Amino acid sequence: MVGRDLRPDGGPVRTCVGCRRRSAKPDLVRVVAVGTSVVADPAARMPGRGAYLHPDLECLAAAERRRAFGRALRVPAPLDTTALHDALAGAARSEEPPPRAAARSVRPVEASGAPRGASTGSVRRQVEKR
Ligand SMILES: [Zn+2]
Repeated sequence: MVGRDLRPDGGPVRTCVGCRRRSAKPDLVRVVAVGTSVVADPAARMPGRGAYLHPDLECLAAAERRRAFGRALRVPAPLDTTALHDALAGAARSEEPPPRAAARSVRPVEASGAPRGASTGSVRRQVEKR
């Protein structure tokens, strides 16, 4: 069953440190330890030992539970995965701009350029006469 996820062309395959399932390398995000923090390395350019994880909060939680990062990255100290958690959570959430610009353009047309006070009444009177 696991073999079905693999590419038939024999592309690079890595094991997710969270769920332990193997996936094509592009489907996994590389993570590295920077100091005692685990950070995502989407460009796979950071030096050092890397581990691979599905970009999925469940896989992150599973990896944390089993302390897989420390083992995979060969870091004996407790690792802080806050930055990685934020990166994965941010990728899952679609960022919408605040609807401020839209609200501004909905302003009623009558308010702009309309003469104030008495003249508004005279305009209305002319319309009534017609
Ligand atoms: Zn996984």
